[in-house]
Amino acid sequence: MASKDRPVDLGDSSTRTNAGSALSEPTVADTEVRAEPIEEERSEGRPSRYACTLDPRKIDPDAAKVVRRLVRHGYEAYLVGGCVRDSLLGRTPKDFDVATSAQPDDVQRLFRNCRIIGRRFRLAHVFFSGGKVIETATFRRNPTSEEKTSDQLLIRRDNFFGRADEDAVRRDFTINALFYDLEAKQVIDWCGGVEDLQRRSVRTIGDPIVRFLEDPVRMLRAIKFSSRLNLGMTPNVYHAIVQCRGALAMAARPRLFEEVMRLLREGASQTCIWLAWETGVLDVLLPEVSTYLYDRPAEDGTFWELLSELDRWTEERGEAPDDVVLWTCLLFEPLLEACLSDADSANAATDFLEPVIERLNVPRRVADAVRRIVAQLPRMYAGRPGRFSRTPLYGPACEVLALLGEGHPKLDAFLEAAPRKKRRRKHQRA
Ligand code: ATP
Ligand code: MG
Repeated sequence: MASKDRPVDLGDSSTRTNAGSALSEPTVADTEVRAEPIEEERSEGRPSRYACTLDPRKIDPDAAKVVRRLVRHGYEAYLVGGCVRDSLLGRTPKDFDVATSAQPDDVQRLFRNCRIIGRRFRLAHVFFSGGKVIETATFRRNPTSEEKTSDQLLIRRDNFFGRADEDAVRRDFTINALFYDLEAKQVIDWCGGVEDLQRRSVRTIGDPIVRFLEDPVRMLRAIKFSSRLNLGMTPNVYHAIVQCRGALAMAARPRLFEEVMRLLREGASQTCIWLAWETGVLDVLLPEVSTYLYDRPAEDGTFWELLSELDRWTEERGEAPDDVVLWTCLLFEPLLEACLSDADSANAATDFLEPVIERLNVPRRVADAVRRIVAQLPRMYAGRPGRFSRTPLYGPACEVLALLGEGHPKLDAFLEAAPRKKRRRKHQRA
């Protein structure tokens, strides 16, 4: 990241620095997207098709089994979404999803190991050994204006079955709307996703303002994909995030929590949180953190260094640490500062955490653990863990301490301040 300065004015994006911004062109020439166009032009009612053999070693055999069985029984079925996108980018997909013309009951008839889940989205989950689930979704379409329950944009119900092309356009980003036909070895592209992958660009399907107001969580997804996959965002997507970020306050809190976890979990937390800050999204989700970042001196990079360490850890081990460690890394500095600036640090921690728990549905178990770890870290840092070393939180706390590294200026400051606070409290009691 070139610079950590950030102009405070969020209203005018032209004044924003582009340091680390998704708007800037990605500098890394990642793997070339190998897909040969079969038809020259995408035209009305016809998708672009690309000849492309996805590495069979990277395709989940159970997902392939689901697709093939559906096709054998006369249904249309494709691999879809993240697995096609990631395979084309040369990455190993996290999971495999299937989209099909078969309705959930049809899927259940074909697979004994299948359960139908969801109310808002009825989906078939096909289970395989080792707890693996292949999510098999029937093609859906966007509801028409008469079918929407109100004339507001926010989508609350989304269970209208449709065709493959309708299913593609209701997805969020062009790069997520690619279907892979296993038999023909072709990528089917209704929305220009292959070209966007080649340009390395995150683009919404349709007007980003409309798509973000329909489902504000998509803004977090744009940040996640851009950061994790090292892609740029089209300028209109970036500006729509800046414009629509306030709508995140309307999104379902459990979804916000889950999506924030994903920003932290996938080895790109530093870029994700930077982008969330730069676009003003962090002002809505975690004003406690964004205010802290506005107020700190430009040369103080410790907040970003901790996230960078977290990303290195995730990269090296192939999985993120526990949620408690992730949240502690995100909140550690602003929370420590809140505690330092108040004579009653326990009270300060509660005042800090309560609105976060409320706004993002953070489980009490996690928030409590963060509070206790941050309270104990200075003592651990000074080599005096005491009885805390016999509690289950000691392990996660040690992980945070390892990520913080030695010679941490904020912990030094805390230790220096601690005896002064003790004296003051004694004085007050007397
Ligand atoms: P990841 O690698 O993080 O799992 P993904 O693209 O597979 O990325 P999922 O959350 O697993 O993301 O969703 C699967 C697919 O469902 C997406 O690729 C996208 O096509 C569609 N999708 C998910 N969330 C939304 C949304 N909020 N709006 C529209 N389409 C969505
Ligand atoms: Mg997925």
